[in-house]
Amino acid sequence: MQTLSLYFHVPFCASKCAYCDFASYPGREGDWARYFEALWAELDGWKAALRGYEAATVFFGGGTPTLVDAGYIVETLSRARSALPVARDAEITLEANPGTLTPEKLAALCAAGVNRLSLGAQSFDDGLLKALGRVHTAAQISRAVDMARDAGLENINLDLMYALPGQTMRQWQSTLDAATALDVPHISAYSLIVEEGTPMARRVAAGEAVLPEDGAVNAMQREAVRRLAAAGLARYEISNYARRGFACRHNLVYWSRGAYLGLGCAAHSLLGGRRFRNPDGLDAYLSGVRRLDEEALTLEDGMEETLMLSTRTARGLDLAAWRRAFGAPFGAGRQRALARLREGGLIEIRDGFLRLTLRGMEVQNAVVLELLEAEE
Ligand code: SF4
Repeated sequence: MQTLSLYFHVPFCASKCAYCDFASYPGREGDWARYFEALWAELDGWKAALRGYEAATVFFGGGTPTLVDAGYIVETLSRARSALPVARDAEITLEANPGTLTPEKLAALCAAGVNRLSLGAQSFDDGLLKALGRVHTAAQISRAVDMARDAGLENINLDLMYALPGQTMRQWQSTLDAATALDVPHISAYSLIVEEGTPMARRVAAGEAVLPEDGAVNAMQREAVRRLAAAGLARYEISNYARRGFACRHNLVYWSRGAYLGLGCAAHSLLGGRRFRNPDGLDAYLSGVRRLDEEALTLEDGMEETLMLSTRTARGLDLAAWRRAFGAPFGAGRQRALARLREGGLIEIRDGFLRLTLRGMEVQNAVVLELLEAEE
């Protein structure tokens, strides 16, 4: 039996955050039922092709999966179980926004098998939350964690953001302290990326919002590594920190290029050596558009993705696995690039693994580019 990871996209939100360019649609409550019918039909269509697979992880992302009635999620899980076996110990994650949870909703979701909650906390500073366009307060984050624990959930993640316009180091430290004080086993800390076309990008372009300099951003990243490690959360990926045994198994599948099937609008898949994606637009999805940009991955694609994804993780790139997968070790050009990067303190090679150093993680894109461009 082969394993895969299942992803369901729930593209509905209460309102649009100022920095958001995800496939998320506020004000479309009237489409919830139609959307889930389409999602279930898509899942049904996969049944035959999923023979021989078992789902090791299931992830509901968004959007705000906790905005919709719990019944939709419960029914989706039940249909997933009839489409393919879901492992007994499957990690079943639900993304949630503080303020959208109730004890009744959580009880229904946990009874259906949800065993991991990923809360979009972002900041414990109410002023920054407001500037981001978040609809919750810091106090609601703590209440959501309490509520999740009361429902029996132990595996809880808090998403945090840094490098926000006007954010000081002191504010970031306070957010890290408030998050670790909640004693959750997993924290993700993402640097804000200002995406074109968002209200945040317009504010930055107009000079109404000022982003921190690169040096300040790197200092915030290092502060996260230091404070989270002190709280027992080790960095296992550029933006992810966990207590032993609580690394997100679903995301580890993405970073190790395991098989995953994404259903719903904007969902991506890698299955049977092929990549494809569904349309980002809710209306395009509702009108039946599926499996765009489908392509079989070449050996070259595999090398590129392996370099890009494995160097994000603390485990790093397994050089013996590379040889097995691609039939040869790094060529002379890439070996020279490795020597340069090593000398520059950006990578280290130990116990058969190539890893980025703390400094290397700050410039991961540049490191990967140098390795990709190194002629063989
Ligand atoms: S809650 Fe998340 S998906 Fe929804 S608008 Fe905000 S950032 Fe986007």
